[in-house]
Amino acid sequence: MEKIELLAPAGDLERLKIAVMYGADAVFIGGKRFSLRSRASNFEVEDIEQGVIFAKKYGAKIHVTVNMLPHDDDLEGLQEYIRDLDRVGVYAVICASLYIAKKVVAMKTNLEVHLSTQQSSLNTLTTDFYKELGIERVVLGRELSIKQIETISSNAEIEIEAFIHGGMCSNYSGRCTLSNYMTFRDANRGGCAQSCRWKYHVLENEKVISDADVLFSMSSKDLMAAQYLPQLIKANVASLKIEGRMKSLYYIATVVRGYRHLIDGFYQDPSQLDIEYYIDEITRAENRPVDTGFYEKNPDESGHLYSQKSENVTHDFLGRVLKVDGNKALIQVRNKFEENDVLEFFGPQQKTFKLDFKSAYNEKKALMQNICNVPMEEVWIDLPFIVEENYLIRKG
Ligand code: SF4
Repeated sequence: MEKIELLAPAGDLERLKIAVMYGADAVFIGGKRFSLRSRASNFEVEDIEQGVIFAKKYGAKIHVTVNMLPHDDDLEGLQEYIRDLDRVGVYAVICASLYIAKKVVAMKTNLEVHLSTQQSSLNTLTTDFYKELGIERVVLGRELSIKQIETISSNAEIEIEAFIHGGMCSNYSGRCTLSNYMTFRDANRGGCAQSCRWKYHVLENEKVISDADVLFSMSSKDLMAAQYLPQLIKANVASLKIEGRMKSLYYIATVVRGYRHLIDGFYQDPSQLDIEYYIDEITRAENRPVDTGFYEKNPDESGHLYSQKSENVTHDFLGRVLKVDGNKALIQVRNKFEENDVLEFFGPQQKTFKLDFKSAYNEKKALMQNICNVPMEEVWIDLPFIVEENYLIRKG
């Protein structure tokens, strides 16, 4: 049985490298054109090439989203862009427009063509129809139960990719014009303003009926489907997708690392797999409430955040190791820590290291300080264990 792919998101080259280092088999990114999230993209073709070169060193692949729903004016330069992606060694493009998908197939490049979740593929006949068009993989819609995913994946004649973690839309994935209406920013051309997460007054006959203190929101809870991993693997799903190209470096490292060890643990010995342990690890990075989406049932009010605060800032991420010199490490401070705090260092491996923090040195390795509270400040810390560059530090 071929090992299931772990597919992670990245919003820039730095996060792409972290995703690869922490165990992603493939990373999906969006370029500055033809992609949702294109407004926030940092990937010029040269950056994509750098990402491909880096990923190849780890045996990982790069997928690029070409997933806008284009208007006539948007299509200029598409062919050249696809040729560029092919030239720099991108593995697959993720298309939402059937025109674009078919165009890439017809260009006979080395690129695989994957069909985006925005096509809302929800049954086997549909996924097999896409195979006839020359498409290699279908990303299923998120509006499916685990049983439906199992049925489709077991019977489909095409590779199936399923979401396992990350944000959900309160509309059918991406098929939403809320942002267009509220901000004139087209969600299907890279401009979603996440208007579903805003706070609204509720009016009836022009009279406000919502509580002034508890405004209304339409936000879905994030998806967390780690507990379904054994069923997804047994059903022959080809790839598990983590959503979140806008997420932080700490989030990417923590979530990818958790799923990496969970997947590897399953293949080593499913009977010994402690899924709850990995769920705890993965949710260390979460700052939004999670739910199982459609995996178990159609989400009811418990799957939404109608009135509650939807995001809590997490101060779990304390720092990043920039450099190692013998038993000293240069740390980039991210959140405050002080004397007697326990710092937990972690890298791609499962083992972590705890330090009872006493003091740090400043840049000149001279002045001692027992509190680090300046974000992005660089300080040296003596360590009784060995860490590596790009290890991260969280609260112990
Ligand atoms: S506004 Fe919300 S539901 Fe609509 S596309 Fe954006 S994230 Fe999805």
